Amino acid sequence: MAQKKQYKAETRRLLDLMIHSIYTHKEIFLRELISNASDALDKLFHASLHGEVEIDRTALKIHLSVDPSARTLTITDNGIGMTAQEMEDNLGVIAKSGSYTFKQALAKDETPKEDIDIIGQFGVGFYSSFMVADKVEVFSQSAKGGDSAHFESTGEDGYRLDTVEKQSVGTRIVLHLKADDENENYSTFLETYELRRLVKKYSDYIRYPITMMEEEKEYDDEGKEKSSTVVEKTLNSMIPLWKRSKSDLKDEDYNDFYQDKFNDYEAPAKVIHTNLEGALSFDALLFIPSRVPYQFYTADYQSGLQLYSRGVFILDHAKDLLPDAFRFVKGLVDSPDLSLNISREMLQHDRQLKAIANRLEKKIKGELLAMLKTDREKYEEFYKHFGLQLKYGLYADFGAKRELLEDLVLFHSSKDLKLVSLDEYVERMKEDQKEIFYVSGESVQKCDILPQTEWVKEKGYEILYLTDDVDEFVLQVLRTYKEKPFKAINQGQLDLGDETEKKALEEKTESNKDLLENLKNALKDQVSDVRLSTRLKTHPVCLVSDEGLSFEMEKVLSQMSDAQPGLKAKRILELNATHPLIDALHHVATDKVATYANLLYNQALLIEGFTLEDPVAFSNQLAQLMIDANQKPID
Ligand code: ADP
Repeated sequence: MAQKKQYKAETRRLLDLMIHSIYTHKEIFLRELISNASDALDKLFHASLHGEVEIDRTALKIHLSVDPSARTLTITDNGIGMTAQEMEDNLGVIAKSGSYTFKQALAKDETPKEDIDIIGQFGVGFYSSFMVADKVEVFSQSAKGGDSAHFESTGEDGYRLDTVEKQSVGTRIVLHLKADDENENYSTFLETYELRRLVKKYSDYIRYPITMMEEEKEYDDEGKEKSSTVVEKTLNSMIPLWKRSKSDLKDEDYNDFYQDKFNDYEAPAKVIHTNLEGALSFDALLFIPSRVPYQFYTADYQSGLQLYSRGVFILDHAKDLLPDAFRFVKGLVDSPDLSLNISREMLQHDRQLKAIANRLEKKIKGELLAMLKTDREKYEEFYKHFGLQLKYGLYADFGAKRELLEDLVLFHSSKDLKLVSLDEYVERMKEDQKEIFYVSGESVQKCDILPQTEWVKEKGYEILYLTDDVDEFVLQVLRTYKEKPFKAINQGQLDLGDETEKKALEEKTESNKDLLENLKNALKDQVSDVRLSTRLKTHPVCLVSDEGLSFEMEKVLSQMSDAQPGLKAKRILELNATHPLIDALHHVATDKVATYANLLYNQALLIEGFTLEDPVAFSNQLAQLMIDANQKPID
């Protein structure tokens, strides 16, 4: 007995969109159904490799047939098939890759226009049949046995499931085409030449034959029809895209392939098609997405490339083919040297595969570097999406991948607040400059207004502004770039002044010995030193950390769940040696020194982006200062 079921709400919405779609390239439904059939054949092929079923591999195919009088187009495959339960799980709900991505895309923008664009850009699998058919039937026999099942749906009113007379293993999808109307000629999908054209256009690379019965006529010498026979013809060339010569392929071919295969509704930012012949031979087709893939920065994201051997699919998400830093890369590798029934575990130790992975990472780096040099705008767009991944990759395993990645990372810089690569920084370093300067902060703007920044910039040095949590850790791991050490301008000593400046500083320190000592005593629980410096230009005060742990690292580490309490950077309060404040401080009454010391320290904390331990006391002290100043102004 047929069971009638309702689609879930989200599936209904998608179906509704398909049924009423005014999308102009409805023809993509065929590509979607053929691609499903091809997957089903892959699955059966695999089951046979592992001895689960016995099949005649050469018989695997996809067959198209039409019945003009019934207005039906039928797509048959002898792949893995589905049981009634699988039909319900796979066709009754949006759960699968293609349609799922579509759902995600829809969630981003609720307007119908967007919906329409998205349909064409990557298709929505099985459901796209409802763009051209008002009734869809699926007959299937699973290779695992059981009854043959039948699914039938007119879209909106749900679907029916029942069992039918036993049929051979595989799936047959019957589309009852919609009636033609003023906008659409659905009958075109009953024409052999049109189906042939569509297969060529969208599914040429499918590795199984896509066949159709075609009439073959023979003519005599006078051009009269001699005989007419109906023969089964293969419509596709079956040469995978990656096996075709680059010169024969257009951007569009690559883009369509990528969008279809990797369920993206945007064309990739970069296509890398590479072939290698020799001791190590493989073809690889890699894509750098132009947007962050769904769930990319979560544990659920599945990275890795697809693996093929002589055009036959082996497995998906082969992680060992890509370094973690490049996990955003999608694509596939086809190598004749790989065994068909290689397992994931074996892959890890496969030398051939390691060699391929090595080549690929170099190739990807090369392409990215070329993009950085020749198409800066595009690279920065790429970097916006995946830069963080590169930095994490650089930091991981104590910098094991530095050679691969150090030229690819960018940082903001004090020079026009733009992004700069380490190579560019070093290239334009001043002649006498020995170190690469950086400072960390919450944002580029905040870095740029730090008191310490002003003086260094005025001296003509460029400063990297580190704004990502991982940045400073990256530099810690690198330590140097092209033999130039990294140096935080707000940490330790900054040896930049000229001889006269240095001498003046020494003298000034000497003449302010007592003042500095008093301030230091007042702040002995907070800072490890109070000193004069030339690091400041117009600002009176700043906080610097001693060598070792920096402020930014302290902040990052303290946010970690397993943070060690008391892990603090050593604080040093620096006063501007040339600021009038120094002289003014000499006039402060002894009993006020502690208050002034506190005020200075709290100001410095605020500038560094720390919260004050006691903001109320700070405010009160400040208010008192205003009162005092107006009663007996400091002269
Ligand atoms: P997707 O192909 O993106 O997974 P679809 O909605 O097109 O999404 O298909 C849903 C699921 O239905 C497929 O993942 C597959 O499990 C099953 N399916 C579809 N067509 C076939 C077929 N011809 N043979 C076997 N299973 C199929």
